Amino acid sequence: MKGVSRCNDEKIVNYPSPLQNPLPLKGGLYVMRHTLRCFSYLCFMADVHEPEVRSYNMSRIKGKNTKPELIVRKFLFSKGFRYRINDKKLPGKPDIVLLKYKTVIFVHGCYWHGHEGCKYFVVPQTRTEWWLNKINGNKENDNKCKTVLETAGWQVISIFECQLIKEKLTTTFQNLLSLLLSK
Ligand SMILES: [Zn+2]
Repeated sequence: MKGVSRCNDEKIVNYPSPLQNPLPLKGGLYVMRHTLRCFSYLCFMADVHEPEVRSYNMSRIKGKNTKPELIVRKFLFSKGFRYRINDKKLPGKPDIVLLKYKTVIFVHGCYWHGHEGCKYFVVPQTRTEWWLNKINGNKENDNKCKTVLETAGWQVISIFECQLIKEKLTTTFQNLLSLLLSK
């Protein structure tokens, strides 16, 4: 991403964890309507990262194959579940779709999806209103998609990134299995 990154305001997709990247970036050209502040921050971001870190970040930025998603997918695959990923035809483009179980799974970053009561969701000190608008927009969108999917008969499971840390993984996966098998 040498010097070519831009903020991506419109698309509410899977954004990286706040711990990895404080700004929504996406490959492409700089968008000039953004503030200079944002612009210089992006330049800074592009410069400070080693190539490996950058490429890891970019994989998260693109919203596909993010690490948390992979953890869930790997687990499901090992248990014999087969699924589609990032299904564009369904509302909210669910990360994992298990047709046989009429279930979709969203793997959410705690920050971008405003995980309430979570230590990874810290309200930013600067441009607070802007960030809150954005995060609340994401949450609204999540809820909207959930309602539409549920109305259409899908079971919707949301897994937050903080539920995938080592200490919580067993419980998270047990719950996931029981939800799936109850369908
Ligand atoms: Zn969380």
